[in-house]
Amino acid sequence: MRQQIINFNPGPAKLPAPVLQQVQAELLDYQGSGISVLEMSHRSDLFAQIAHRSEQRLRQLLGLDNGWAVLFLSGGASSQFSLSAMNLSALGFAEHIITGHWSQRAYLEATKVAPARIAASSEALAYSEIPAQADWQLDESSGYVHITSNETIHGVAYPKIPEIDLPLVADMSSDFLSKPIDIDRFGLIYAGAQKNAGPAGLTFVLIKRSLLEHAPKDLPAMFNYRLLADKNSMLNTPPVFNWYVAALVLDWIDSGGGLPMMEQAAIKRSSLLYSQIDSSGFYHNQIAKNFRSRINVAFSLQHQELENMFLQQAQAAGMTGLKGHRAIGGLRASLYNAMPFTELETLVEFMREFESKYG
Ligand SMILES: *Cc1c(COP(=O)(O)O)cnc(C)c1O
Repeated sequence: MRQQIINFNPGPAKLPAPVLQQVQAELLDYQGSGISVLEMSHRSDLFAQIAHRSEQRLRQLLGLDNGWAVLFLSGGASSQFSLSAMNLSALGFAEHIITGHWSQRAYLEATKVAPARIAASSEALAYSEIPAQADWQLDESSGYVHITSNETIHGVAYPKIPEIDLPLVADMSSDFLSKPIDIDRFGLIYAGAQKNAGPAGLTFVLIKRSLLEHAPKDLPAMFNYRLLADKNSMLNTPPVFNWYVAALVLDWIDSGGGLPMMEQAAIKRSSLLYSQIDSSGFYHNQIAKNFRSRINVAFSLQHQELENMFLQQAQAAGMTGLKGHRAIGGLRASLYNAMPFTELETLVEFMREFESKYG
């Protein structure tokens, strides 16, 4: 048993309780093998089953056919800023859409290894919306377009997937598996697991096989998506334990009704929180309504002292992880798949009481 803490951390973030319980139950002896997954060869039959089942589960959840390769890598989403650019560089210029902290980072890292430019940016609007697609300065001869589907720090997200003719590459770290997506619109998707889909240390890369062929031949093997796909992500030792935990999370998502149910729950949670914010003059959210993230809700109070008090009292009431990112300050609640609605209700109730005391 552990203390009942409500965890709003942005990542690493809350995992489903049944997953943690299963990990605990299986930790010392995985399925009668007498050893832990922590101690298991990635070449063993038992691990091969975990790897196979998790890939099938992910394919089923997202509707990925054999035209897609699915990679389970280490290195985090940040490594994919560079690796995606290296592997796709033969396609031509990368067009980046800058919508907040992470897309900015992805662009800066991409420019170090391949030609990239900014096709649109909402920086001048303090990232309070996504630039309208009509204003994207895309060159038809460019190679691909890179977007960040949900900006974890700024709390701004694409309300719908852009329709473009160029291959679309998306960093989906913080809204991966939070809703069904039209997979055919994308060429490559990557996501760190630690926001919505598992523990830190595992990264999902989904790539259309037709794009794999473009990887330059002289890339280091560990950076080459095609080689990694040929070896089923086992060119070297993969992060076996993280992969195993993520496999359990994928099963948990499936048994909870799959991505349509995850989306419904995300809408319900975020609607309640935004309506609480909007109905008060006390809490503020600066994102244009149509572009608000359902996953990371950034909000602020009139001054920092009040925010510090909010954080202290929330902590005392059993709620953690509500501090905004150091890059922008303020407050933030991250509402990932694993969060039950009742926990969000507890936060909203706390917000009402805090406002009635200090508003
Ligand atoms: C957290 C996050 C990252 C960085 O992930 P790491 O796994 O720490 O490299 C990148 N992009 C987005 C959208 C994120 O939320």
